[in-house]
Amino acid sequence: MNVSHLKCSICNATYSPDEVRYVCPKHGNSGLLEVIYDYDSVKSRTSEADFSHSKDFSIWRYWELLPIEDRSAVPPLRVGWTPLYEAEHLGGGLGLANLWLKDDGLNPTGSFKDRASAVVVGKAKEIGVNAITTASTGNAGAALAGLSASAHIPSIIFAPHTAPEAKVAQLLIYGAHVFLVKGTYDQAFDLSLAASKEFGWYSRNTGYNPFTAEGKKTASLEICEQLAIKKPEHADAGWRSPDRIFVAVGDGNIITGVWKGLRDLRALGWIEKIPRLMGVQSKGAAACYNAWKAGTDTISPVDAQTISDSICVGLPRDGTRAVRAVRETDGAYLTVTDEEVLSAMRSLAREEGIFAEPAGATGYAGLVKAVRESLVDPDEEIVVLVTGNGLKDIGAAVRAAGKAQLVEPTLDAVRSSISSIRP
Ligand SMILES: [Zn+2]
Repeated sequence: MNVSHLKCSICNATYSPDEVRYVCPKHGNSGLLEVIYDYDSVKSRTSEADFSHSKDFSIWRYWELLPIEDRSAVPPLRVGWTPLYEAEHLGGGLGLANLWLKDDGLNPTGSFKDRASAVVVGKAKEIGVNAITTASTGNAGAALAGLSASAHIPSIIFAPHTAPEAKVAQLLIYGAHVFLVKGTYDQAFDLSLAASKEFGWYSRNTGYNPFTAEGKKTASLEICEQLAIKKPEHADAGWRSPDRIFVAVGDGNIITGVWKGLRDLRALGWIEKIPRLMGVQSKGAAACYNAWKAGTDTISPVDAQTISDSICVGLPRDGTRAVRAVRETDGAYLTVTDEEVLSAMRSLAREEGIFAEPAGATGYAGLVKAVRESLVDPDEEIVVLVTGNGLKDIGAAVRAAGKAQLVEPTLDAVRSSISSIRP
């Protein structure tokens, strides 16, 4: 058994994985549990060198560090091992020597959330449940709907009625039962939890289910392994962590998961240092930034409004751990405007060929701001997470890129307007 115990992030009480399903009984919905492994046992069974022989190019290559026991429970869709691109053009433009982009828009349902849903669906299969439910701004729901479909488990999704049309279509095509809630994501979250209790559905709600962060941590494992493959410092080098990672923050569970993965790797001795984590929020949904700035772990809800719908969260459910992740790694929080996000979408697409949705480009928008404010050193090795595919929100893409030119079907018409085209 890989998992040793579950630990409350507030009181440090420990529980066996069979004892508690979701949160610390003493602390209710704020007592989020962290999954702790028997690291000595993991080390005795595998080392970082073993992975160079692995032919499993998915999150499941890290089996010893994941909370599933039964391999037959793993859902069939391939999740993870997304590309880590060296961003020479964008890096050059910003005066950065070592910039990397991790494109998680290439997961099966187009977002980072597939990592969490793959693990939760595996767990659901293992324990045997009648259905899985989640609240979602869109991506977590699509991830759950897709992964559940592949595992033949019914899914029930609660999303705010403002979710972009493409995301809702994605939920429906996978056969999920979709409730569009006449309210905010935060209200959808509470309704989904209540429905889970009332009807006995397994809850994937972010943070509330301890295994979402375990899925999300696989991005860190990949980054540290891929950096060593792409640029080994010397021939026998082990895995390598970057100096900083930029992460868009909504509910706070991605940055929490990224932090957890790094701590797992350090506990195993597979990396030497924990990178500084840079949390990037929209100015219009900045509850974690506010708490970090005020020097507190207590999250005060805000009235959330931003073009980046995936991180449009008023009360981040994993906010306390998300603030700690930044504070304890000596990172920082930044906020960006919608205009800065639209500009980041254009830059990622035009300079590196990566089409991101607004939240997916928010991490990069944060990097641009950090460079402008001299928060990063030009020689640092920096990784930016791109968390979602641009096709998920066509309306935002049109806002970023504008409309195409209409032309008469004649060469003359083309000739008269090509002066602006330059190689
Ligand atoms: Zn507790």
